[in-house]
Amino acid sequence: MKTIDNYNFNGKKAIVRVDFNVPLDKATFQVTDDTRIRGALPTIKKIIGDGGAAILMSHLGRPNGKPQDKFSLKHVVPTIEKDLGLKIKFAPDCVGDEAKKLAAELKPGEVLLLENLRFYEEEEGKPYSLGENATDEEKKAAKAKVKESQKEFVNKLASLADCYVNDAFGTAHRAHASTALIAAHFPGNSMFGYLIESELKAMDKVLKAADKPFTAIMGGAKVSDKILIIENLLEKVNNLIIGGGMTYTFIKAQGGSIGKSICEEDKLDLAKEILTKAKAKGVNVYLPVDAINADAFDANANTNISKVNETPDGWMGLDIGPETVKLFSDVIAKSKTILWNGPMGVFEMEKFAHGTSAIAKAIADATAKGAYSLVGGGDSVAAVNKNKLADKISYVSTGGGAMLEYMEGKELPGIKAIRE
Ligand code: AMP
Repeated sequence: MKTIDNYNFNGKKAIVRVDFNVPLDKATFQVTDDTRIRGALPTIKKIIGDGGAAILMSHLGRPNGKPQDKFSLKHVVPTIEKDLGLKIKFAPDCVGDEAKKLAAELKPGEVLLLENLRFYEEEEGKPYSLGENATDEEKKAAKAKVKESQKEFVNKLASLADCYVNDAFGTAHRAHASTALIAAHFPGNSMFGYLIESELKAMDKVLKAADKPFTAIMGGAKVSDKILIIENLLEKVNNLIIGGGMTYTFIKAQGGSIGKSICEEDKLDLAKEILTKAKAKGVNVYLPVDAINADAFDANANTNISKVNETPDGWMGLDIGPETVKLFSDVIAKSKTILWNGPMGVFEMEKFAHGTSAIAKAIADATAKGAYSLVGGGDSVAAVNKNKLADKISYVSTGGGAMLEYMEGKELPGIKAIRE
């Protein structure tokens, strides 16, 4: 792995793709969760500790190629300074004369943050400025034009530095200017930062060197979002636990009554196929046996408990029930490797959060007894944090989409660009 560990940044300027796409308070623009900033600190500290200078670049939100104050990375500067314990410089445009001047003047030990990369449509290579009524012909031409000006954009970014570090795991699945294209400008001098390195190690441990029994726990709203990862995992796991809203597509496929629970009618055959495939591969599939039902999708809804395949008419299952918590927890307790993605219920509402919290606790308990656990995806990570269990999980991944794609067996463009 091309990591920064054996690289000496002394006297060098490193342009570092970080993931500072942090949540901001809508009124005050203050950072409400600085996890991603803290995740990048070891890499930044290594660079400046060696006597190098760091030029940080990131996106924030979806400005779709248009500069807008609410998406400015200037809002993030005070939090970076507090976390890093160092004053930093800010370039109000990621390319152009001022960025060039600030980068040129940067001294060893200093840090410069560039303005939001996505203020340029060249970052994503998408022709956002195109009107909705454009013809296919116009779309094609506009796309070709952005791809062309993208080269110029990458040149400008690359010209600011001597080497490139990618530490933005959260966007590693995107083939953007700053995540994939720029690496080619630094042959022999592009590498992964510590965050990406640790993410890759954690995922590879699970995918390539899992101690058995290996249990994957998949939750969330839809089967369609998780189908590729489930298919890839069927090759590797001993146990597959399914929870959350996608439960009901499986239950209906097996002839159960699901009331008005969420269900993807067009995925019933797919659900059956997954179950057949799992059986053929000797994977034990655990579906919920009971559920907490609600009479409305509402935090104050009336609730009852039923067998998962006997949801009363007019009710919907919004969390796994107590029998299921026990069943899943027992499987988890006997596992040596555990992968978890997606909540077991509508955990955003207190009444339906218990199942998700209980699974987080079961994973933490198994980890304390020696299992290796990897938790990823925004909702599962939020549940782990809410239950103050982050330090009791072996690895908590920062990249939702990137982790899913890696687990699906795909090669991520941001990883590939550096590996090559
Ligand atoms: P995903 O983004 O696919 O991981 O799905 C996460 C979302 O699934 C969360 O917002 C949950 O509220 C939702 N969810 C989990 N269980 C259910 C359920 N039984 N019914 C409806 N939505 C659910």
